[in-house]
Amino acid sequence: MSQIDEFRTSTRAWLEENCPGGARGSGQIPWGSSSIELEPDVRLWLQRMSERGWTVPTWPREYGGAALSRDEYTVLIDELKRINARTPLTGRGVNYIGPTILELGSDDQKTRWLPGIARGEGGWAMGYSEPGAGSDLASLSCRAELQGDHYLLNGRKTWTSDAMDCDYIFVLVRTSPDKPKHEGISLVLVDMSQAGVQVRPIRLLSGASPFNETLFEDALARADDVIGGVDNGWTVGKRLLQFERSTHAGINISGSQGGRVVESHMPETIKRYAPMSAGRITDPVIRARLIRFEQNGHAQRLTQKRVIEELEARAPGYASSAVKLSGALHTQEGDEMLLAAMGTGGIGSETEATRAWLRQKALTIAGGTKEVQLNIIAKRVLGLPD
Ligand SMILES: Cc1cc2nc3c(=O)[nH]c(=O)nc-3n(C[C@H](O)[C@H](O)[C@H](O)COP(=O)(O)OP(=O)(O)OC[C@H]3O[C@@H](n4cnc5c(N)ncnc54)[C@H](O)[C@@H]3O)c2cc1C
Repeated sequence: MSQIDEFRTSTRAWLEENCPGGARGSGQIPWGSSSIELEPDVRLWLQRMSERGWTVPTWPREYGGAALSRDEYTVLIDELKRINARTPLTGRGVNYIGPTILELGSDDQKTRWLPGIARGEGGWAMGYSEPGAGSDLASLSCRAELQGDHYLLNGRKTWTSDAMDCDYIFVLVRTSPDKPKHEGISLVLVDMSQAGVQVRPIRLLSGASPFNETLFEDALARADDVIGGVDNGWTVGKRLLQFERSTHAGINISGSQGGRVVESHMPETIKRYAPMSAGRITDPVIRARLIRFEQNGHAQRLTQKRVIEELEARAPGYASSAVKLSGALHTQEGDEMLLAAMGTGGIGSETEATRAWLRQKALTIAGGTKEVQLNIIAKRVLGLPD
Protein backbone atom coordinates (compact mmCIF):
# COMPACT_ATOMS: atom_id res chain seq x y z
CA MET A 1 0.00 0.00 0.00
CA SER A 2 1.37 3.45 -0.90
CA GLN A 3 2.09 5.98 1.81
CA ILE A 4 -0.86 8.14 0.80
CA ASP A 5 -3.22 5.13 0.82
CA GLU A 6 -2.00 4.27 4.31
CA PHE A 7 -2.65 7.84 5.35
CA ARG A 8 -6.19 7.59 3.96
CA THR A 9 -6.89 4.34 5.80
CA SER A 10 -5.64 5.60 9.15
CA THR A 11 -7.37 8.98 8.71
CA ARG A 12 -10.68 7.31 7.87
CA ALA A 13 -10.48 5.07 10.94
CA TRP A 14 -9.53 7.91 13.26
CA LEU A 15 -12.29 10.21 11.98
CA GLU A 16 -14.95 7.49 12.25
CA GLU A 17 -13.99 6.91 15.85
CA ASN A 18 -13.40 10.50 16.95
CA CYS A 19 -15.91 12.69 15.14
CA PRO A 20 -18.92 12.98 17.48
CA GLY A 21 -22.43 12.80 16.03
CA GLY A 22 -23.10 16.42 17.02
CA ALA A 23 -20.22 17.62 14.81
CA ARG A 24 -21.64 16.06 11.63
CA GLY A 25 -24.10 17.65 9.23
CA SER A 26 -25.01 21.29 9.44
CA GLY A 27 -24.72 23.17 12.72
CA GLN A 28 -22.43 25.18 14.95
CA ILE A 29 -18.86 25.84 13.82
CA PRO A 30 -16.48 27.52 16.28
CA TRP A 31 -14.40 30.52 15.21
CA GLY A 32 -12.55 31.14 18.47
CA SER A 33 -14.81 33.68 20.15
CA SER A 34 -14.60 33.34 23.94
CA SER A 35 -18.09 34.80 24.32
CA ILE A 36 -19.88 32.11 22.31
CA GLU A 37 -20.66 28.92 24.18
CA LEU A 38 -19.92 25.73 22.28
CA GLU A 39 -22.18 22.69 22.20
CA PRO A 40 -20.49 19.75 23.99
CA ASP A 41 -19.86 17.67 20.83
CA VAL A 42 -18.56 20.72 19.00
CA ARG A 43 -16.15 21.50 21.84
CA LEU A 44 -14.98 17.88 21.93
CA TRP A 45 -14.43 17.84 18.16
CA LEU A 46 -12.41 21.05 18.31
CA GLN A 47 -10.31 19.68 21.16
CA ARG A 48 -9.63 16.34 19.45
CA MET A 49 -8.83 17.89 16.09
CA SER A 50 -6.55 20.58 17.54
CA GLU A 51 -4.64 17.98 19.59
CA ARG A 52 -3.96 16.21 16.31
CA GLY A 53 -2.95 19.44 14.56
CA TRP A 54 -5.88 19.11 12.16
CA THR A 55 -7.54 22.47 12.78
CA VAL A 56 -4.68 23.88 10.64
CA PRO A 57 -3.43 20.72 8.94
CA THR A 58 -0.64 22.23 6.82
CA TRP A 59 0.95 24.37 9.54
CA PRO A 60 4.19 23.13 11.12
CA ARG A 61 3.75 21.00 14.25
CA GLU A 62 5.54 23.48 16.51
CA TYR A 63 2.82 26.05 15.76
CA GLY A 64 -0.16 23.76 16.31
CA GLY A 65 -0.47 22.13 12.89
CA ALA A 66 0.21 18.63 11.58
CA ALA A 67 2.66 19.53 8.76
CA LEU A 68 0.49 17.68 6.20
CA SER A 69 1.59 17.73 2.56
CA ARG A 70 -0.86 19.04 -0.02
CA ASP A 71 -1.83 15.47 -0.99
CA GLU A 72 -2.41 14.48 2.63
CA TYR A 73 -4.42 17.64 3.17
CA THR A 74 -6.62 16.77 0.18
CA VAL A 75 -7.17 13.27 1.58
CA LEU A 76 -8.13 14.70 4.97
CA ILE A 77 -10.67 17.06 3.38
CA ASP A 78 -12.11 14.18 1.30
CA GLU A 79 -12.47 12.02 4.39
CA LEU A 80 -14.09 14.81 6.40
CA LYS A 81 -16.59 15.28 3.56
CA ARG A 82 -17.20 11.53 3.36
CA ILE A 83 -18.59 11.41 6.91
CA ASN A 84 -20.20 14.85 6.62
CA ALA A 85 -18.02 16.19 9.42
CA ARG A 86 -18.06 19.91 10.03
CA THR A 87 -14.84 21.85 9.98
CA PRO A 88 -13.69 21.95 13.63
CA LEU A 89 -12.59 25.59 13.55
CA THR A 90 -12.97 28.51 11.17
CA GLY A 91 -12.69 32.30 11.24
CA ARG A 92 -10.24 35.11 10.71
CA GLY A 93 -7.76 33.58 13.18
CA VAL A 94 -7.02 30.33 11.37
CA ASN A 95 -7.82 31.61 7.89
CA TYR A 96 -6.50 35.20 7.66
CA ILE A 97 -4.16 36.41 10.39
CA GLY A 98 -2.70 32.98 11.28
CA PRO A 99 -1.43 32.27 7.74
CA THR A 100 -0.11 35.86 7.54
CA ILE A 101 1.87 35.49 10.78
CA LEU A 102 3.10 32.10 9.61
CA GLU A 103 4.36 33.59 6.34
CA LEU A 104 5.54 37.04 7.42
CA GLY A 105 5.75 37.12 11.23
CA SER A 106 8.90 36.84 13.35
CA ASP A 107 9.76 33.61 15.17
CA ASP A 108 8.68 35.23 18.42
CA GLN A 109 5.29 36.24 16.96
CA LYS A 110 4.75 32.74 15.57
CA THR A 111 5.52 31.17 18.95
CA ARG A 112 3.36 33.59 20.91
CA TRP A 113 0.31 33.64 18.62
CA LEU A 114 -0.02 30.59 16.38
CA PRO A 115 -0.55 27.70 18.84
CA GLY A 116 -3.43 29.59 20.53
CA ILE A 117 -4.99 30.45 17.17
CA ALA A 118 -4.75 26.77 16.15
CA ARG A 119 -6.59 25.76 19.35
CA GLY A 120 -9.32 28.34 18.70
CA GLU A 121 -8.45 30.52 21.67
CA GLY A 122 -9.82 33.93 20.74
CA GLY A 123 -12.01 35.30 17.98
CA TRP A 124 -10.45 37.80 15.57
CA ALA A 125 -11.91 40.93 13.98
CA MET A 126 -10.56 42.67 10.92
CA GLY A 127 -9.80 46.40 11.24
CA TYR A 128 -9.20 47.59 7.69
CA SER A 129 -12.09 49.77 6.42
CA GLU A 130 -12.67 53.29 7.66
CA PRO A 131 -15.38 55.82 6.84
CA GLY A 132 -12.95 57.44 4.36
CA ALA A 133 -11.07 54.33 3.25
CA GLY A 134 -12.78 51.34 1.63
CA SER A 135 -11.58 50.46 -1.85
CA ASP A 136 -9.02 53.23 -1.48
CA LEU A 137 -7.66 51.49 1.60
CA ALA A 138 -4.28 53.23 1.54
CA SER A 139 -6.04 56.48 2.52
CA LEU A 140 -6.64 55.11 6.01
CA SER A 141 -6.06 57.53 8.86
CA CYS A 142 -6.25 55.48 12.09
CA ARG A 143 -2.93 56.42 13.75
CA ALA A 144 -0.47 54.51 15.89
CA GLU A 145 2.26 56.39 17.75
CA LEU A 146 5.16 54.66 19.38
CA GLN A 147 5.49 55.35 23.10
CA GLY A 148 8.22 53.27 24.65
CA ASP A 149 7.49 49.62 23.96
CA HIS A 150 3.85 50.19 22.99
CA TYR A 151 1.87 51.86 20.26
CA LEU A 152 -0.99 54.18 21.13
CA LEU A 153 -3.87 53.80 18.67
CA ASN A 154 -6.41 56.50 17.85
CA GLY A 155 -9.03 56.36 15.11
CA ARG A 156 -12.17 54.68 13.83
CA LYS A 157 -12.71 51.50 11.85
CA THR A 158 -16.03 50.58 10.27
CA TRP A 159 -17.83 47.45 9.03
CA THR A 160 -15.84 45.38 11.55
CA SER A 161 -17.83 42.16 11.29
CA ASP A 162 -18.48 40.27 14.53
CA ALA A 163 -16.36 42.72 16.59
CA MET A 164 -18.87 42.52 19.45
CA ASP A 165 -17.87 38.88 19.98
CA CYS A 166 -14.15 39.20 19.24
CA ASP A 167 -11.19 39.01 21.59
CA TYR A 168 -8.54 40.41 19.25
CA ILE A 169 -8.36 42.59 16.17
CA PHE A 170 -5.70 42.98 13.49
CA VAL A 171 -5.60 46.61 12.47
CA LEU A 172 -4.08 48.54 9.59
CA VAL A 173 -2.75 51.76 11.09
CA ARG A 174 -0.74 54.76 9.97
CA THR A 175 2.63 54.66 11.68
CA SER A 176 4.44 57.28 9.53
CA PRO A 177 2.05 60.06 8.48
CA ASP A 178 4.83 61.96 6.70
CA LYS A 179 5.67 59.18 4.26
CA PRO A 180 3.78 58.59 0.93
CA LYS A 181 0.45 56.97 1.81
CA HIS A 182 1.33 53.37 0.87
CA GLU A 183 4.64 53.51 2.75
CA GLY A 184 3.56 54.65 6.20
CA ILE A 185 1.15 51.83 7.11
CA SER A 186 1.63 48.92 9.55
CA LEU A 187 -0.43 45.87 10.52
CA VAL A 188 -0.68 45.48 14.29
CA LEU A 189 -2.43 43.06 16.65
CA VAL A 190 -4.63 44.53 19.38
CA ASP A 191 -6.31 43.02 22.45
CA MET A 192 -9.94 44.14 22.38
CA SER A 193 -10.53 43.69 26.11
CA GLN A 194 -9.18 47.10 27.07
CA ALA A 195 -10.92 50.38 27.85
CA GLY A 196 -9.36 52.09 24.82
CA VAL A 197 -11.27 49.84 22.38
CA GLN A 198 -14.98 50.41 21.97
CA VAL A 199 -17.38 48.54 19.75
CA ARG A 200 -20.57 50.19 18.52
CA PRO A 201 -23.10 48.11 16.60
CA ILE A 202 -24.27 49.33 13.19
CA ARG A 203 -27.96 48.55 12.91
CA LEU A 204 -29.28 47.28 9.58
CA LEU A 205 -32.80 47.36 8.21
CA SER A 206 -33.23 43.66 9.04
CA GLY A 207 -32.59 44.37 12.73
CA ALA A 208 -29.85 41.73 12.80
CA SER A 209 -26.35 42.82 11.93
CA PRO A 210 -22.81 41.52 12.37
CA PHE A 211 -21.45 45.01 11.61
CA ASN A 212 -19.83 47.42 14.02
CA GLU A 213 -17.76 50.51 14.27
CA THR A 214 -14.61 49.94 16.32
CA LEU A 215 -13.14 52.98 18.01
CA PHE A 216 -9.63 53.31 19.36
CA GLU A 217 -8.97 55.97 21.99
CA ASP A 218 -5.43 55.65 23.28
CA ALA A 219 -5.70 51.88 22.84
CA LEU A 220 -2.47 49.99 23.48
CA ALA A 221 -0.70 47.52 21.22
CA ARG A 222 2.66 45.93 21.94
CA ALA A 223 5.39 47.32 19.69
CA ASP A 224 6.53 43.78 18.96
CA ASP A 225 3.05 42.91 17.65
CA VAL A 226 3.56 44.75 14.36
CA ILE A 227 3.54 41.97 11.77
CA GLY A 228 6.09 41.94 8.96
CA GLY A 229 7.89 45.16 9.93
CA VAL A 230 6.95 48.76 10.72
CA ASP A 231 5.70 50.70 7.67
CA ASN A 232 5.48 47.45 5.70
CA GLY A 233 1.73 47.12 6.34
CA TRP A 234 0.66 47.70 2.76
CA THR A 235 2.50 44.57 1.61
CA VAL A 236 1.51 42.55 4.69
CA GLY A 237 -2.10 43.77 4.57
CA LYS A 238 -2.44 42.87 0.88
CA ARG A 239 -1.12 39.36 1.54
CA LEU A 240 -3.71 38.96 4.29
CA LEU A 241 -6.37 40.02 1.77
CA GLN A 242 -5.17 37.24 -0.53
CA PHE A 243 -5.71 34.76 2.31
CA GLU A 244 -9.18 36.23 2.84
CA ARG A 245 -10.07 36.03 -0.86
CA SER A 246 -8.63 32.53 -1.11
CA THR A 247 -10.79 31.47 1.82
CA HIS A 248 -13.89 32.91 0.14
CA ALA A 249 -12.80 31.09 -3.04
CA GLY A 250 -12.20 27.72 -1.30
CA ILE A 251 -8.49 27.63 -2.23
CA ASN A 252 -6.71 28.61 1.00
CA ILE A 253 -5.03 25.44 2.19
CA SER A 254 -3.15 27.34 4.89
CA GLY A 255 -6.34 27.74 6.89
CA SER A 256 -8.91 25.31 8.13
CA GLN A 257 -11.54 25.12 5.43
CA GLY A 258 -10.01 26.18 2.11
CA GLY A 259 -9.79 23.37 -0.36
CA ARG A 260 -13.19 22.17 0.67
CA VAL A 261 -14.83 22.30 -2.72
CA VAL A 262 -18.61 22.38 -2.30
CA GLU A 263 -20.71 20.28 -4.66
CA SER A 264 -23.92 21.67 -6.20
CA HIS A 265 -27.42 20.68 -5.07
CA MET A 266 -29.07 23.22 -7.33
CA PRO A 267 -30.89 20.78 -9.69
CA GLU A 268 -32.73 19.09 -6.78
CA THR A 269 -33.54 22.49 -5.25
CA ILE A 270 -34.85 24.01 -8.49
CA LYS A 271 -36.94 20.91 -9.19
CA ARG A 272 -38.85 21.53 -5.96
CA TYR A 273 -40.24 24.76 -7.44
CA ALA A 274 -40.15 24.61 -11.25
CA PRO A 275 -43.02 23.11 -13.29
CA MET A 276 -42.19 19.45 -13.95
CA SER A 277 -43.38 16.68 -16.22
CA ALA A 278 -42.06 13.09 -16.10
CA GLY A 279 -39.11 14.17 -13.93
CA ARG A 280 -38.08 16.95 -16.35
CA ILE A 281 -38.29 20.69 -15.91
CA THR A 282 -40.82 21.82 -18.52
CA ASP A 283 -39.95 25.52 -18.61
CA PRO A 284 -37.23 25.78 -21.32
CA VAL A 285 -35.88 29.07 -19.94
CA ILE A 286 -35.32 27.68 -16.45
CA ARG A 287 -33.91 24.44 -17.89
CA ALA A 288 -31.38 26.28 -20.07
CA ARG A 289 -30.40 28.55 -17.19
CA LEU A 290 -29.92 25.59 -14.85
CA ILE A 291 -27.77 23.75 -17.40
CA ARG A 292 -25.58 26.82 -17.88
CA PHE A 293 -25.35 27.23 -14.10
CA GLU A 294 -24.27 23.62 -13.62
CA GLN A 295 -21.67 23.90 -16.39
CA ASN A 296 -20.23 27.04 -14.82
CA GLY A 297 -20.28 25.43 -11.38
CA HIS A 298 -18.39 22.43 -12.71
CA ALA A 299 -15.80 24.73 -14.32
CA GLN A 300 -15.49 26.68 -11.05
CA ARG A 301 -14.88 23.50 -9.02
CA LEU A 302 -12.30 22.20 -11.52
CA THR A 303 -10.57 25.57 -11.40
CA GLN A 304 -10.49 25.48 -7.58
CA LYS A 305 -8.94 22.00 -7.69
CA ARG A 306 -6.42 23.02 -10.35
CA VAL A 307 -5.37 26.15 -8.46
CA ILE A 308 -4.84 24.07 -5.31
CA GLU A 309 -2.81 21.50 -7.25
CA GLU A 310 -0.64 24.24 -8.76
CA LEU A 311 -0.09 26.09 -5.48
CA GLU A 312 3.50 26.90 -4.68
CA ALA A 313 2.61 28.75 -1.49
CA ARG A 314 -0.14 27.79 0.96
CA ALA A 315 -2.54 30.11 -0.82
CA PRO A 316 -2.39 31.72 -4.25
CA GLY A 317 -1.49 35.30 -4.96
CA TYR A 318 -3.43 37.34 -7.49
CA ALA A 319 -5.30 34.26 -8.75
CA SER A 320 -7.28 34.49 -5.50
CA SER A 321 -9.04 37.57 -6.95
CA ALA A 322 -10.14 35.71 -10.08
CA VAL A 323 -11.46 32.60 -8.29
CA LYS A 324 -13.11 34.65 -5.53
CA LEU A 325 -14.89 36.82 -8.11
CA SER A 326 -16.03 33.98 -10.37
CA GLY A 327 -17.26 32.07 -7.30
CA ALA A 328 -19.19 35.08 -5.97
CA LEU A 329 -20.83 35.77 -9.34
CA HIS A 330 -21.74 32.11 -9.68
CA THR A 331 -23.32 32.03 -6.20
CA GLN A 332 -25.30 35.18 -6.97
CA GLU A 333 -26.52 33.73 -10.28
CA GLY A 334 -27.72 30.68 -8.32
CA ASP A 335 -29.64 32.93 -5.92
CA GLU A 336 -31.25 34.85 -8.81
CA MET A 337 -32.19 31.68 -10.65
CA LEU A 338 -33.71 30.07 -7.57
CA LEU A 339 -35.87 33.11 -6.85
CA ALA A 340 -36.97 33.20 -10.50
CA ALA A 341 -37.99 29.54 -10.26
CA MET A 342 -39.83 30.17 -6.97
CA GLY A 343 -41.95 32.89 -8.56
CA THR A 344 -44.25 34.57 -6.05
CA GLY A 345 -43.11 32.02 -3.44
CA GLY A 346 -39.83 33.92 -3.24
CA ILE A 347 -41.37 37.28 -2.45
CA GLY A 348 -40.74 38.65 1.05
CA SER A 349 -37.87 38.12 3.43
CA GLU A 350 -39.27 35.07 5.20
CA THR A 351 -37.79 32.33 3.05
CA GLU A 352 -34.21 31.12 3.40
CA ALA A 353 -33.77 31.55 -0.37
CA THR A 354 -34.73 35.22 -0.19
CA ARG A 355 -32.50 35.84 2.81
CA ALA A 356 -29.57 34.15 1.01
CA TRP A 357 -30.28 36.22 -2.13
CA LEU A 358 -30.09 39.42 -0.07
CA ARG A 359 -27.16 38.34 2.11
CA GLN A 360 -25.03 37.12 -0.76
CA LYS A 361 -25.24 40.42 -2.61
CA ALA A 362 -22.42 41.29 -0.18
CA LEU A 363 -20.12 38.68 -1.77
CA THR A 364 -19.13 41.21 -4.44
CA ILE A 365 -18.37 43.87 -1.80
CA ALA A 366 -16.73 42.08 1.15
CA GLY A 367 -13.03 41.28 0.79
CA GLY A 368 -12.77 43.90 -1.97
CA THR A 369 -15.51 44.84 -4.43
CA LYS A 370 -16.09 43.31 -7.82
CA GLU A 371 -14.55 46.36 -9.52
CA VAL A 372 -11.47 46.17 -7.29
CA GLN A 373 -11.02 42.47 -8.16
CA LEU A 374 -11.41 43.27 -11.89
CA ASN A 375 -8.74 45.98 -11.56
CA ILE A 376 -6.36 43.50 -9.88
CA ILE A 377 -7.04 40.83 -12.53
CA ALA A 378 -6.52 43.35 -15.33
CA LYS A 379 -3.26 44.69 -13.94
CA ARG A 380 -1.67 41.80 -12.07
CA VAL A 381 -2.97 38.69 -13.84
CA LEU A 382 -3.42 39.90 -17.43
CA GLY A 383 -0.69 42.58 -17.32
CA LEU A 384 -2.90 45.20 -18.97
CA PRO A 385 -1.73 48.82 -18.80
CA ASP A 386 -3.28 51.33 -16.32
C1 LIG B 1 -20.45 41.54 4.46
C2 LIG B 1 -19.32 42.50 4.62
C3 LIG B 1 -18.41 42.30 5.63
C4 LIG B 1 -17.34 43.19 5.82
N1 LIG B 1 -16.49 43.00 6.87
C5 LIG B 1 -15.46 43.85 7.06
C6 LIG B 1 -14.57 43.66 8.17
O1 LIG B 1 -14.75 42.74 8.98
N2 LIG B 1 -13.55 44.52 8.32
C7 LIG B 1 -13.32 45.54 7.43
O2 LIG B 1 -12.34 46.26 7.60
N3 LIG B 1 -14.17 45.78 6.39
C8 LIG B 1 -15.23 44.95 6.19
N4 LIG B 1 -16.11 45.17 5.14
C9 LIG B 1 -15.96 46.36 4.33
C10 LIG B 1 -15.46 46.09 2.90
O3 LIG B 1 -14.10 45.74 2.90
C11 LIG B 1 -15.73 47.37 2.10
O4 LIG B 1 -17.14 47.56 2.07
C12 LIG B 1 -15.21 47.27 0.69
O5 LIG B 1 -13.82 47.23 0.66
C13 LIG B 1 -15.68 48.47 -0.17
O6 LIG B 1 -15.44 49.67 0.45
P1 LIG B 1 -16.59 50.76 0.63
O7 LIG B 1 -17.77 50.10 1.24
O8 LIG B 1 -16.00 51.93 1.34
O9 LIG B 1 -17.02 51.17 -0.85
P2 LIG B 1 -16.26 52.19 -1.82
O10 LIG B 1 -14.81 51.91 -1.82
O11 LIG B 1 -16.70 53.57 -1.48
O12 LIG B 1 -16.87 51.77 -3.21
C14 LIG B 1 -18.13 52.24 -3.70
C15 LIG B 1 -18.26 51.78 -5.14
O13 LIG B 1 -17.24 52.39 -5.95
C16 LIG B 1 -16.51 51.40 -6.67
N5 LIG B 1 -15.10 51.78 -6.79
C17 LIG B 1 -14.30 52.27 -5.79
N6 LIG B 1 -13.05 52.45 -6.26
C18 LIG B 1 -13.03 52.02 -7.55
C19 LIG B 1 -12.02 51.94 -8.55
N7 LIG B 1 -10.77 52.31 -8.32
N8 LIG B 1 -12.38 51.44 -9.77
C20 LIG B 1 -13.64 51.06 -10.04
N9 LIG B 1 -14.65 51.12 -9.11
C21 LIG B 1 -14.36 51.59 -7.89
C22 LIG B 1 -16.64 50.15 -5.81
O14 LIG B 1 -16.41 49.00 -6.57
C23 LIG B 1 -18.06 50.25 -5.30
O15 LIG B 1 -18.96 49.78 -6.27
C24 LIG B 1 -17.18 44.30 4.95
C25 LIG B 1 -18.12 44.50 3.92
C26 LIG B 1 -19.18 43.63 3.76
C27 LIG B 1 -20.18 43.90 2.67
